[in-house]
Amino acid sequence: SISIGVLTSGGDAQGMNAAVRAVVRSALNLGVAVHAIFEGYQGMVDGGDRIRSLSWDDVGSILHRGGTIIGTARCPVFREREGRLAAARNLLRHGIDRLVVIGGDGSLTGANLFRQEWASLVAELVERGDIDELTAQRHSALMITGLVGSIDNDMVGTDMTIGADSALHRIVEAIDAITSTAASHQRTFVVEVMGRHCGYLALMSAIAGGADYVLIPESPPSENWEQEMCDLLRNGRAAGRRDSIVVVAEGACDNAGGPISSDRVRQVLQDRLGEDTRVTILGHVQRGGTPSAFDRCMSTLVGHAAVQELLSATPTSEPQMVGMRYNRVRQAPLMQCVEQTHAVARKIAEHDYAKAMELRGSSFTE
Ligand code: ATP
Repeated sequence: SISIGVLTSGGDAQGMNAAVRAVVRSALNLGVAVHAIFEGYQGMVDGGDRIRSLSWDDVGSILHRGGTIIGTARCPVFREREGRLAAARNLLRHGIDRLVVIGGDGSLTGANLFRQEWASLVAELVERGDIDELTAQRHSALMITGLVGSIDNDMVGTDMTIGADSALHRIVEAIDAITSTAASHQRTFVVEVMGRHCGYLALMSAIAGGADYVLIPESPPSENWEQEMCDLLRNGRAAGRRDSIVVVAEGACDNAGGPISSDRVRQVLQDRLGEDTRVTILGHVQRGGTPSAFDRCMSTLVGHAAVQELLSATPTSEPQMVGMRYNRVRQAPLMQCVEQTHAVARKIAEHDYAKAMELRGSSFTE
């Protein structure tokens, strides 16, 4: 009989619960047992009660909850072979040789490495006497399917990652709140948002929140951006606008590649405009709270598709990542997506923005 494992790993994101629920219920619906691996790869390495079979009801009433009820973690020992050996032993104790991994590029890279090593890990476990030959033969390959859980929306191969839409909602709510206080005092606010190397959250929230200026990694401002920004804001004031909002992506940089911090932007505005300028770093608020309707729906669809993909996988088939493209559930070769995501980050670091956007290839930009 087939047994699937599901885990969430890396940074948490709203919608992960919806994905876990869809994986569990889709598997059960097909008569396949499913185990949750609690606390990401750490739970896989630790074993024991951190790997537990789930029933239909175990994932009830979680659809609307933020974060992940099965926990997530960063697990340094999984980066070592010794850690992965323990993980393989623990999975085999439960007869698990198919995994749905919900995480960012690091988690998916780890899953792929684990899959590539699986045969040699199993051989070593037989040699040590930890498992018998029959178990080894039955589970000679590990099959994996990836779902991207990340508020950053930074993965090639999917237009949206699980959590990005909810984080965007959180940011826009915060910008709305800041706008009302800014308007009352005629203040200027600099709002710093998450996203690492990706400007998606900053750009979309600036548009949706009606911000006056935005700084993102993929499109550094011109050399005299400080003057340009100040002129824009000054003209806005002159035209009667009471609030000024500048959104800064945490990875924003200037055209020499130097970081643009929210505090630097504040200093510039304060010095050149002589305005009372405040910084709000939204931080972990962006990850919190209930998932948006979009995240619940998308996570349910990709979770369901991930189970179908995983059950049709063979030991030799290339592992897939399931995401959304052009408003359709689509799969793409997992490692190609991860490698291309890294290539995008490299091109941004090299200031080759056109190439970076070409490689990212989102249907938003096509
Ligand atoms: P986020 O985008 O939120 O940071 P992530 O999945 O990229 O999510 P990481 O911290 O990079 O987060 O990875 C999560 C875990 O995945 C690590 O703690 C580690 O256990 C495992 N992992 C990451 N990279 C590798 C790797 N190259 N080899 C083995 N395991 C890895």
